[in-house]
Amino acid sequence: MKLAVIKGDGIGPEVVNQAVKVIGVISKKYKCNFQYQEVLMGGAAIDETGVPLPDETIEICKNSDAVLLGAVGGPKWDKISRNLRPEAGLLQIRRQLGVFANLRPAIMFPQLKSASPLKEEILGNNLDLMIVRELTGGIYFGEKNREDIECGKKAWDIMGYSTPEISRIAKVAFEIAQKRNKKITLVDKSNVLENSRLWREVVSEIAKEYPHIDLDYMYVDNAAMQLIRNPNQFDVILTGNMFGDILSDEASMLTGSLGMLASASVGENKIGLYEPIHGSAPDIAGQDKANPIAAIMSVAMMLRYSFDMEEAAKDIENAISKVLDKGYRTVDIMGDGMIEVGTEKMGELISEKI
Ligand code: NAD
Repeated sequence: MKLAVIKGDGIGPEVVNQAVKVIGVISKKYKCNFQYQEVLMGGAAIDETGVPLPDETIEICKNSDAVLLGAVGGPKWDKISRNLRPEAGLLQIRRQLGVFANLRPAIMFPQLKSASPLKEEILGNNLDLMIVRELTGGIYFGEKNREDIECGKKAWDIMGYSTPEISRIAKVAFEIAQKRNKKITLVDKSNVLENSRLWREVVSEIAKEYPHIDLDYMYVDNAAMQLIRNPNQFDVILTGNMFGDILSDEASMLTGSLGMLASASVGENKIGLYEPIHGSAPDIAGQDKANPIAAIMSVAMMLRYSFDMEEAAKDIENAISKVLDKGYRTVDIMGDGMIEVGTEKMGELISEKI
């Protein structure tokens, strides 16, 4: 099983090192052989090669079964022109691998209820929702430009979605909802956006093929509010690139920290891209403070979706749960009476439990 590993920038290498440690333990336990090759992307690639996504990285990723990514970006590269910034590498690799569906589960570990900013009675005991975000289209990939106008400057970013782009992501959401609680909420802004009106038309057509799945619609502003007011009303949220980006960060906070949640990006070919949903967190980089659980949960998702190793994925999730049961916490999820540990120690504890 061939893996490409992109550690990235900031806390990326720190959390990926722990994820790789976990892969080592799983390989031994299940007697399987992961061959991994480390490749450059983001700021680290700019420093070394001058571009955020070298051709060699694309080539190696395309020849792998899965790609594990930390995070890219940071203030050091913020002033570089848009096409050469670390984040451009991230957008390009998603496009190159054709991973148009980003699956972002927001699952609450009951041990972390107190780390959530929401009241316990709102959270309930089983918060488990899945955001299915379109990843390779929409406003982030549309034409963008600036022009001088009489009173200053004008900038624009075009949001465009085609029928095939919408229908393929909708099908992914319906397939996932079939294995969950059979409910999809399409989040859009169809009261003002033509794009959103097309999304509603296409998704409601596809819904006819899945009569046992309950489909409803919600404006994104309302969805942002409902996630805080009553998150348990959701099962699968289907949405476009930008709305999904914003709502998934919001959903992650329900569960306590950005440092807890993983994501999987998949497409029609078999290569999956797995990454924590957080960024490179330059404010805590190099201090052994980053929570590696999101990166480790990314490994669980990789085993589940790319390698069909459900039992191993469950092993990882159970190990995390046991470590939390013992009271170990990184600083972002710290609570009264808990034992604070750093990135490295958290990785070790989880590996030992596996
Ligand atoms: P961020 O996710 O890096 O950090 C937001 C906050 O959450 C910070 O306070 C950070 O310390 C905290 N945090 C994030 N991950 C954590 C973890 N694992 N453990 C503990 N605390 C954690 O978002 P940002 O500050 O908006 O962005 C920083 C850089 O990351 C920017 O350059 C941005 O472009 C980039 N970014 C990259 C990705 C990616 O590579 N997929 C995603 C988002 C942002």
